Amino acid sequence: MRYLILSDLHSNLEALDAVLRAVPAGTCDRIVVLGDLVGYGADPNAVVNRVRALAPAAIVRGNHDKVSAGVEPADNFNDAARHAATWTFDALTSENREYLAGLPAGPIILDEVLELCHGSPDDEDEYVFEPTDAIEALRAARCNVCFFGHTHVQIGYWLSGSDFDLIVTGPDEDTTVRIEEGRRYLINPGSVGQPRDGDARAAFAVFDSDRGEVTLRRVAYPVAAAAAKITAAGLPEGLARRLALGK
Ligand code: ZN
Repeated sequence: MRYLILSDLHSNLEALDAVLRAVPAGTCDRIVVLGDLVGYGADPNAVVNRVRALAPAAIVRGNHDKVSAGVEPADNFNDAARHAATWTFDALTSENREYLAGLPAGPIILDEVLELCHGSPDDEDEYVFEPTDAIEALRAARCNVCFFGHTHVQIGYWLSGSDFDLIVTGPDEDTTVRIEEGRRYLINPGSVGQPRDGDARAAFAVFDSDRGEVTLRRVAYPVAAAAAKITAAGLPEGLARRLALGK
């Protein structure tokens, strides 16, 4: 089974479409979404409609989905994120708002081969940035392969007993991670719609469970077009600028 893993789309239609073009229909059996479909970007309805049409095999909510759908207040959001969430709440159709409000919290186990969550298997809102956080998350995971999002950084970690290491992606080529027996993996496919690891290209992953391989991929997209829409929508200018920086 081949799974397309998408996270942190953030209402960026140009980025999502570039990813879907890079992975033509039929080359993956199932689509998995790790949350944050909306927030920050200017195309919430178009992105939610795309995701719904893709009929993901599994999907969890992100913190921006909760706040933008009115499920939670924006208490922990900075000014730009709060502004965007309020704007998104108003822009969403009631149908799409209900769809987002009804998304389940992670973690979810799919097909007994992969686990998905937004923040960590322990806490959907936790940021896994530090190796110590990753080790804790690896211990909390119930599956040998667990995908997470939220940080917008494409990275992997593995743990086997007391052995632990990072899987860092290169700047040019796809990074293929071989899933080895006896190791647990915690993998972030990176963000489709607002990468923050210094690479402006849309990030995603493909997991081939038969081959035991995860490929971490990047694809260029029309950043200027997505940024211009953010400006035209009257959203904070910093949200437009950061797309080109990948930060
Ligand atoms: Zn996010």
